[in-house]
Amino acid sequence: MRRLALLAALAIGSPAAAQPAPTEHPLLHELVGKVSPERQRATITKLVGFGTRHTLSDTKSPTRGIGAARRWVASEFAAVSKDCGGCLTVETPSQIVSGTTRIPNPTEVMDVLAIQRGTTDPERVIIISGHMDSRVTDPMNFTSDAPGANDDASGTAAVIEAARVLSKYKFPATLVFAALSGEEQGLHGGKVLADFATAHGWRVEADLNNDIVGNSEGLTGVRETTRVRVFSEGTKAVETPAEADKRRYNGGEVDSPSRQLARMMDGLADRYLANFDVTIVYRTDRFSRGGDQVEMLKAGFPAVRVTEANENYTRQHQDLRTENGIKYGDVIEGVDFAYLAQVTRLNIISMAALASAPAPPTGVDIKGAVSVDTTVNWTPSPDAARYRLWWRSTTDPQWRYSRDAAPTGQAVLKGVNIDDWFFGVSAVSADGWESPVVFPGAPGQWAKGEPAKAAAGK
Ligand SMILES: [Zn+2]
Repeated sequence: MRRLALLAALAIGSPAAAQPAPTEHPLLHELVGKVSPERQRATITKLVGFGTRHTLSDTKSPTRGIGAARRWVASEFAAVSKDCGGCLTVETPSQIVSGTTRIPNPTEVMDVLAIQRGTTDPERVIIISGHMDSRVTDPMNFTSDAPGANDDASGTAAVIEAARVLSKYKFPATLVFAALSGEEQGLHGGKVLADFATAHGWRVEADLNNDIVGNSEGLTGVRETTRVRVFSEGTKAVETPAEADKRRYNGGEVDSPSRQLARMMDGLADRYLANFDVTIVYRTDRFSRGGDQVEMLKAGFPAVRVTEANENYTRQHQDLRTENGIKYGDVIEGVDFAYLAQVTRLNIISMAALASAPAPPTGVDIKGAVSVDTTVNWTPSPDAARYRLWWRSTTDPQWRYSRDAAPTGQAVLKGVNIDDWFFGVSAVSADGWESPVVFPGAPGQWAKGEPAKAAAGK
């Protein structure tokens, strides 16, 4: 590390020589120890026990179908809330969907949300989501058993466990624990969540969407328990043609807010999780496949998809059967609870870190064309005690160099040429909680509706 810092200092002048160390947060170590694989096993066992959770399945039965499943999830959230003095509000936003290929007749798609209101900035919202609904081979088959133990009772179990653990603590920002529905029929629950967030004026800082997060054995037999994939869009789904034009010229195709979330999660895993790493994938989702985070991105909210390292396709969207000696079906035997607990820990420390830190900086802009220095501007916020400037080579996947800056809204990086580096700014609280890094201009701006600043240069 020392050698690297010295080389960096030689390469770009003195600023890189004094790298501020990240603040160690005992809270995050404590949270890591609170996750229970046994409780998650009980959650998935219960969800599998509803037979099918298909979106078109029975909603009246107390024991079978999506209705029974969502009522049970709501009752779990209510029980968690009882244990924290009523700290959670349970909401069940829904929409009637009809006339689509997979939902031909009017069907109520209902999400179950538990909301833990933030202490000082409640409109700022950090979400964890997973989907309750399940399916077999035929997406229209709503009667056969569809255990969906991994897809996506595992994500739902991560959501519920996050609520159990984080509800014992207080955070400046609001936490939302979201069990979605209708994913397999066309990402409808993601849309219900996005519309609910928009209608309530939430400033959604992050949606960590967990879908297929509990299996550690890939189709080839490879068993990998030490990493998870985090998918994120490179450019914003809501980018305008004019913004795209500037971005093509000045860069920013790998620096959306969602991508910064993935980078932050990777850094947290490195510092707080033993033998567990994030593999950042530069894609919105797996190739030609989707998830509920897509609807959040379309609404302009930063979101990532968390998915196990090696998927097992004989256990996804399959009728329960044995064929040529191969067992098909998304059964609970395919879930590795120690692995699921690690993924859940990653989510929990990410939510706690995001909710404890100041909001990501706004108004981030850089200037410095035809100059040996780079000037970074941003809008100071009262929540931030200081800021941190970050930069990296334009081909580097992770932020590499940093320097603290006073909360003035402007800092100059002497001898760091604007042409050769990508820049970003994070906000840091008095007790050292750091926000995600914000890339300058429209490609990186977090806040939906923040007026785009004139890009420097072009
Ligand atoms: Zn899924």
